[in-house]
Amino acid sequence: MAIQKNFLRNCQKPVTNSNALDEREPATGFPVIPYIRTLGHIFAKPKDPVTKEQRTDVIYSIPCNECDNEYIGQTKRQFGTRLKEHQKAVFLCKKENSALSEHTRLTNHTIGWDNSKIITTNRRYHQRLCLEAWHINSAHAPSNRDDGGLLPDAYLHLVRKKAAN
Ligand SMILES: [Zn+2]
Repeated sequence: MAIQKNFLRNCQKPVTNSNALDEREPATGFPVIPYIRTLGHIFAKPKDPVTKEQRTDVIYSIPCNECDNEYIGQTKRQFGTRLKEHQKAVFLCKKENSALSEHTRLTNHTIGWDNSKIITTNRRYHQRLCLEAWHINSAHAPSNRDDGGLLPDAYLHLVRKKAAN
């Protein structure tokens, strides 16, 4: 994944486009949380495995059940929360800001919610946007209306070439 690392270093600043993505967030510094070691840390019980729905800072894919279309998205919140929003948009046939809903309306296809998957995770907002754009462009048949224009042309060429192989 050397190409992707390089890509993240070189990708362009986010373009502010109010309808491109639903989760714009202001560029703020990371809060500093003091680390206090307690007995609780030392004797912590093994954690329950985190489910797909509980994971945060994710780049995810939601496929169609009946064709190659897939929707690529990103969220800093729990994936399950975002997934429910997508489901609601499809259920209510929302016309705005839902490429999934548009796909089901135009084709009568059903969405493969259970086959949705986390592609990768990244805690940095801008890097998540870049990775999202990367995966939209490398998807065989992306449902997304827009990749946010974040991929530099040199990478666009590379990613599409890779996807075609
Ligand atoms: Zn489809």
